Formats: sequence, C-alpha cells, structure tokens
Amino acid sequence: MFRNIHEVMMNHNPVVIIGSGLAGYMLAKEFRRLDKESPLQIITATDGAFYSKPLLSTALSMKRDVTGLTTATAEAMSKQLNVVIRTRTRVTRIDVENQYIQFPDEILPYSKLILATGSEVIKPSLLGDAVNEILSVNDLEDYARFREMFASKKHVAILGAGLVGCEFANDLANVGHRVDIIDPSYYPLQRLLPKPLGRILQHAFAENNVVWHLGSLASQVDKKNDQYELVLSQQQILKVDVVMSAIGLRPHIELAQKAGIKVNYGILVDRYLQTSARNIYALGDCAEVNGLVLFFVAPLLNCAQALAKTLTGSSTQVVYPAMPVVLKTPLCPIVVAPPPPNVVGDWQVSGTNNDLKALYYDRQQNLCGFSLTGKMVSEKTKLVQELPALLK
Ligand SMILES: Cc1cc2nc3c(=O)[nH]c(=O)nc-3n(C[C@H](O)[C@H](O)[C@H](O)COP(=O)(O)OP(=O)(O)OC[C@H]3O[C@@H](n4cnc5c(N)ncnc54)[C@H](O)[C@@H]3O)c2cc1C
Repeated sequence: MFRNIHEVMMNHNPVVIIGSGLAGYMLAKEFRRLDKESPLQIITATDGAFYSKPLLSTALSMKRDVTGLTTATAEAMSKQLNVVIRTRTRVTRIDVENQYIQFPDEILPYSKLILATGSEVIKPSLLGDAVNEILSVNDLEDYARFREMFASKKHVAILGAGLVGCEFANDLANVGHRVDIIDPSYYPLQRLLPKPLGRILQHAFAENNVVWHLGSLASQVDKKNDQYELVLSQQQILKVDVVMSAIGLRPHIELAQKAGIKVNYGILVDRYLQTSARNIYALGDCAEVNGLVLFFVAPLLNCAQALAKTLTGSSTQVVYPAMPVVLKTPLCPIVVAPPPPNVVGDWQVSGTNNDLKALYYDRQQNLCGFSLTGKMVSEKTKLVQELPALLK
C-alpha cells in the first residue's frame, strides 16, 4: 500500500542504475529476466560499452584492442535489455528526500536508485614532475591509452605486486616487454598467499624477463628525455619507458557520501543491498555488503541476482558462497580463496617444487581459505566444497 500521493507518483518513476560496469549491467539483465516492462534507466559516465573488465589484464596476449574487448555497444545493450541508457553523463547529486538525481543541468526522479559506481584506482603519492603520467588501467579508456603506449615502448615499471600488478606483468612479459615490479612487500601477492607460494610466482616471473624490486618503495618519478627515472629505496635509480601503477582500488563513495548516505570504506548496505537511504541500494565494487568490500565478479553476480528479486517484489538477502579466484598468471597457475578479513589463523603448506597447497585454518581448526599453485590447482573444486559460505 502507498502511504500518500507523493509515494504513488514516485512509484511511476523509473528504476535508475548509476554505472554501466559489470554490476550495473548484470543487475539490469537479472531485473529484465523478472520484469520485462517496468521503466529502467542506466546513467553512466562512460560510453556504456559492455565488456568484461577482468580481460583488461590479458588483452595484450589475446591481441585485443578496445573494439575487440567490447561485447556490445550501449545502443545494442539498450535494445537487448529494453533500457534507456544515458552515456557520458556523470551524476553529480542525489536528493534522497525528494528522490531524484541530478546531472549538471537536468534532474531525473527515480522510484528506486541503484548505485553501481564501482571503484577508482588509488594514486601513488610520489614526488617528481612525471607523477601525472603514471598509467593505471581500470576501464576501457585507460586500456586504449595503455595499448597505444606499448606500441612503441618496451620497458615498463609496475608499482604494486598484488593481483592486478602481477597479471599485467605476466601479460606484458608474455608479449616481449621487459618488466620491473616494485613493492614494499617481501614477496608478491602477500595479501593473498603465504610466502612459499608467493616465492613460486616470483621465480617463475624472474625466469621470464621480470625483475623484482621487493621490500622497496618508489618515492619519485621524473621525465628525462624520452624516459622516466624512478627513485627507489636506497636511492636506486630505475630508467624505464612507461610507469604503471597497480597499488590498489578504492570504492567510489563520494556521490553517496555527499547525499548523506552512510559509508565506511564502501557504501554501507545490508544483506538486501539496501543503503541507509530509503529506496537506494548499492552493489559491485562500490558496496560494503555486511562489512565485506570485495573487488571481484562473483560477489557482484550474487548481489545482482538477489537485488533483482528484491526490486521486483520478493525481498531477498544476498548469499555469498565460497568464491575462489583463478589468477590470470599463466607463467604460474594460482587459485586463491582468501580467508575472510576478520578471521585469525595460520597457513599450513604442503606439496613439492612448484605444486603447493596452502590451507588456512582458524584457531578452532576450521578451514577458512586456501591457495594453490601449479598442479595443485586441480584441487580447487574439492576444496571449495569444504569451505564455509562467506555470507550464509
Ligand atoms: C585489471 C583487472 C583485472 C581483474 N580481474 C579480475 C578477475 O580475474 N576476476 C574477478 O573476479 N575480478 C577481477 N577484477 C575485478 C572486477 O573486474 C570488478 O570487481 C568488477 O568489474 C567491478 O564492476 P563494477 O560495475 O562494480 O565497477 P566498474 O566497472 O568500476 O563500473 C562503475 C561504473 O560506474 C560509473 N560511474 C561511477 N560514478 C559515476 C557517476 N557519478 N555518474 C555516472 N556514472 C558513474 C562508471 O563510469 C562505470 O560505468 C579485475 C579488475 C581489474 C581492474
């Protein structure tokens, strides 16, 4: 039942999704499976091309340019999903009280609003005159610049030996580039793997033209002639053609924050993906779901399915099963299912040579996570069944 005439009017307004990344589009797809007719709009700052973001870090090896990565244009998605898509439109304000969003010179009322605003790259805080020329790749436009750059350049420095940094290093090494990786950790993928498994990846990369600068920080970058000079710890100077940063992502929360919606690291939502504001939901990289911010595809797919049901009348809590991630590092096959952030425990490592299995047990000896290298990755399916759900 509607409470008043205002609410009746509101209900005739479209469901509006902000963002055309995987979260926005997967939600639109799930919504349309359940509701073919209700008005649905997507507002996006980009050109609205549908693509799989994880492919960005393997695209050089696959010889794919932006067109090759694009699965469908905004126009095609609009037809396929029966949704109005406004491209190159950045939402600047949300009026939570009167239920409308604002672009610079227009407003759009909504019945329900979904924030799928994704994440942004964390910029490294370096000194020097070339800080603004450091590349990072988090969308198709970044990838276009990145690809163009590597048409003529050969030697790249990557800041960050996490998942994204290691995947790009593998891709670049694969197509013949010299790669130097700089990271303050003492072994790669330190947040995901115990040391013996990290070392396997380190050695595999080193044998393929990758030079490691571990336990080292870049403090300055300057342009000298046609190259960049990076100052590393102990005043070591590294000269390269391109500097790339992969030091991490942070959820896009400013729009929500300015509207008075509760945020922490991400936009705070409950198991129904509901924010602190009436009729406003969030999913994908921007959302902190029950305390979890997960920059992966599997969680957002689970959220899209649950939220589509909620939006079409059947309130549904999101469930997160165990969600292992297969790293795109063919030089060293790795699968990880990281333990939940709040769990305290230890890794137990077994195996030989490059084929290692690490199991993470909490203090009560419950299996909470795993990581596998080499031939051990074949144990993924069995181990996933033994892991508890992240959100039951
Ligand atoms: C290189 C790389 C490799 C990856 N590999 C894997 C992998 O192997 N496996 C895996 O599971 N995950 C991987 N990920 C993570 C995964 O790709 C992301 O978790 C997922 O794509 C996030 O989707 P999203 O829609 O939440 O965010 P995004 O793709 O960031 O989309 C956000 C959208 O919001 C729009 N937007 C933001 N603010 C506004 C505004 N104010 N107004 C209008 N529009 C706005 C943006 O334009 C964009 O369209 C990878 C990520 C990267 C960068």
